[in-house]
Amino acid sequence: MKITIVGGGIVGMTAAYLLSKEQDIQVTVIDREGAGQASAAASGIVCPWVSKRRNKTWYRLAVEGARFYRELMPQLTAEATVNPGYEQKGALILRDSLAKINELAGIIEERLVEAPEIGDLTVLSAAAIQQQFPFIAEGLSGLHVSGGARVDGSKLVAALKEVAVHNGVDFITATARLARKDNRLTVLVEGLEIAADKVLLATGAWLGEMFDEAVYCDITTQKGQLLHLKTIQNSSDWPVIMPASAFSFVPFADHVVIGASHEKNKGFNLAPTIGELTAIANESLRFAPGWETAEIIGVRTGTRAYTADYTPVLGQVPFADNAYVANGLGASGLTVGPYVGKVLVDLVLNRSVKIDLAQYPVERYLRLIHE
Ligand SMILES: Cc1cc2nc3c(=O)[nH]c(=O)nc-3n(C[C@H](O)[C@H](O)[C@H](O)COP(=O)(O)OP(=O)(O)OC[C@H]3O[C@@H](n4cnc5c(N)ncnc54)[C@H](O)[C@@H]3O)c2cc1C
Repeated sequence: MKITIVGGGIVGMTAAYLLSKEQDIQVTVIDREGAGQASAAASGIVCPWVSKRRNKTWYRLAVEGARFYRELMPQLTAEATVNPGYEQKGALILRDSLAKINELAGIIEERLVEAPEIGDLTVLSAAAIQQQFPFIAEGLSGLHVSGGARVDGSKLVAALKEVAVHNGVDFITATARLARKDNRLTVLVEGLEIAADKVLLATGAWLGEMFDEAVYCDITTQKGQLLHLKTIQNSSDWPVIMPASAFSFVPFADHVVIGASHEKNKGFNLAPTIGELTAIANESLRFAPGWETAEIIGVRTGTRAYTADYTPVLGQVPFADNAYVANGLGASGLTVGPYVGKVLVDLVLNRSVKIDLAQYPVERYLRLIHE
């Protein structure tokens, strides 16, 4: 069987990597390798269990996403020569009172039955936090969640790609187009058809561009900016730090990534802006005043994809018997992306899928409105 995957972000490359281990399947990935890929811009947190969001559809997918990392990473780490950028160093949740931390600990404890990956929960007093992490502001209590992890999206995608290509996946750097005919999608590169029995669409925020005006596509963009700060201490063993803020701190060996902004109505604009970066910087100094003299070593911007009501999209393309799509992963795509890539693989190979796909309805956001 020939399978073409359009989009080489975390979703597309995980699908390619998994398919590359199957017998008698020829896989082609097409990615334009242009600016703005969300996966490459993002350095993020995999710790969905601490969210107070009541959206069960989101939570279910996020829990499976965090779980799937535990399956994927040992294999990938053994196979790739490059570092896949995922490390489980825990997450530290910060609140301004011990009462709030205890309340949160209670909520997370109830989730342990369904998600043992949460690991150990340790409440830390303000004094204990000061002792362990002196750069954090005084007076903040904390909850350490041992199952929390950090992931560098660009490294993960590079590792997946390396192994997939090594296993025989054909990677084409180009912009793909789609042609619709007889309830099928055909992928074209520079006017030439890329022969395929099945097509996977993992195009992130660019999905709407793939179709003509007969197709309704409700995927919008959201710009994200991140600040990279050099750390003076070795920060490789720090947990991800999640204060009561829109921003979080994701530490790596010699730098910490802070953000991200969530900007609507910016289209595919990727320019770093002083307003958003100042907001990120001010917020980081509120929680980590010791970083006032920290060196800014980089800024990353990327484009996330959202549906109007933030529901992810996952399943068969309603007007194409041979195509499947995953999209609208928003700010959780690093967490759920590898699992979503696995679901696409299960669908294309006619295997059973653990989650209820009716909760991620493609037709609501992607459908034919006229022939
Ligand atoms: C700044 C920032 C911070 C984030 N932080 C987090 C976080 O902490 N935790 C978390 O879980 N998630 C986070 N996310 C979200 C996450 O990164 C995304 O949801 C996820 O990476 C989306 O993956 P994807 O594969 O669907 O899309 P993408 O990674 O965007 O990949 C799509 C690819 O398809 C290619 N493409 C599109 N159309 C075509 C075409 N016609 N031809 C060829 N190629 C095409 C694009 O060029 C792109 O490379 C963050 C995102 C950003 C931007």
